[in-house]
Amino acid sequence: MKGPSIRWRLTGWHGAVLAVMLIGFSVVIYLMTQQRLLTRTEFELDEELDEFQMEVSLARDLADLQKQLEKRFGQHATFDFQLTTLAGETLFRSKRLAERALPLPVPQAVSDSVAFANRSIPGLGPHRIAVKRLPGPTGPMVVQAAAPLASNAKELHDLVVTLVSVGPIVLGCALAGGYILARRALAPLDRMIAAAERISAQRLNQQLEVSNPRDELGRLAQTLNGMLGRLHRSFDEMRRFTADAAHELRTPLAVLRSEVEVALQSTRSAEQYQHALESVLEETARLTRLTDQLLMLCREDMGVNDVRRESVRLDTLAREVVDDLQVVAEQQRVALRAGRLQRTLVEGDPGRLRQVCFNLLDNAIKYTPPRGAVIVRSTLEGGRVQLIIEDTGIGISHEHQPHIFKRFYRVDSARNGAGTGLGLAICKAIVEAHHGRIDVESAVNRGTCFTITLPKSTVPAGKD
Ligand code: ADP
Repeated sequence: MKGPSIRWRLTGWHGAVLAVMLIGFSVVIYLMTQQRLLTRTEFELDEELDEFQMEVSLARDLADLQKQLEKRFGQHATFDFQLTTLAGETLFRSKRLAERALPLPVPQAVSDSVAFANRSIPGLGPHRIAVKRLPGPTGPMVVQAAAPLASNAKELHDLVVTLVSVGPIVLGCALAGGYILARRALAPLDRMIAAAERISAQRLNQQLEVSNPRDELGRLAQTLNGMLGRLHRSFDEMRRFTADAAHELRTPLAVLRSEVEVALQSTRSAEQYQHALESVLEETARLTRLTDQLLMLCREDMGVNDVRRESVRLDTLAREVVDDLQVVAEQQRVALRAGRLQRTLVEGDPGRLRQVCFNLLDNAIKYTPPRGAVIVRSTLEGGRVQLIIEDTGIGISHEHQPHIFKRFYRVDSARNGAGTGLGLAICKAIVEAHHGRIDVESAVNRGTCFTITLPKSTVPAGKD
């Protein structure tokens, strides 16, 4: 199922975060305004009470007090007042209150300092009421001053209307802005997708556009370009390998075919048939060797034989291969011997390491003329192990040395008819799978020396 695009998701998240912030901001503004309005009302009430107290303190007697209060506070524009004795007997009440007495406070709660409370006065609505005790001409008195809260409520209501109407507009603008920004930021990604869709196996040499190599999308494009480059190279290698393999297979098959065709053209003697069959057998052996080697290389490439981690004594292994090849060396009249084989332990696959040793010794015998010598040695130095295979053979000239590990590369194909040019490529693949390296040093007509370097085994050595 296709979900919403990153662009929409980014805009959605951006909108949700902004909405939460706007709501939080509105609530804070509302609460702060409510508190500010209440403080202002209380301040005004406090000031009025001070004036009221002044009037009370100047009065000579109760009648004079009531007359003065009536004059100044009887019809106050905003506030209403009520003066009582501590016992609750009313001494003065402003006009608007008329018969509506303000509820009397609990006498213990009244003190010389002003206290505030919210009360709803029937017919007049909610009020903020200030209470204070005063010394009067006839003893202590309680004064109450009431301020209507309607104007505060109106101001708060207006604020809510403003916030509720402006908020969605701000949110809408921010969402539109967020969407445009997300679209602009992700536009290179769209171009990359379009370009990537155009790239097929045949067009792996194409590259993605890198708009800004320093930003994340630029780095992604560079990484993908690097990957495309590697894919292109390995596709190319694979194509070349397949073509070379097909070419190599064609030659023995063509020879086979012509041998058989010639043999079938007319009736031949038993001897001639035998000769033809021997040729067929030789070519079949060559084909088998080639296909075996191709299979081995494919396995190395696919990592099918992931390196087995086993302790292998390289010196023992080399000695065994020398013994196995002794007959071949004798046939060639080459002196094959094991030199100083230091005890060397590596971790890896004994079968594949044996293959490397075999290929190198086999080559050394093959490319060494009679009366020459082949010697194998092993050394242990620091954390590295080396297997050295040296011969006094025909050598490899400098211009060929960099290529001999390439697949199907043969220095002189005319001189080595049986060679496939895959042996050294297999050696290199195996050694590299063991985190090692293979090097060659050679001089024409003086001899060749192959050195395999592998990391020493970290597993403690066994008894032998
Ligand atoms: P091949 O099956 O032809 O021997 P390799 O991959 O084993 O293929 O070797 C590649 C080429 O390197 C050979 O054709 C040969 O010319 C050269 N070569 C390999 N080993 C030696 C050696 N010890 N002395 C001289 N030439 C060698």
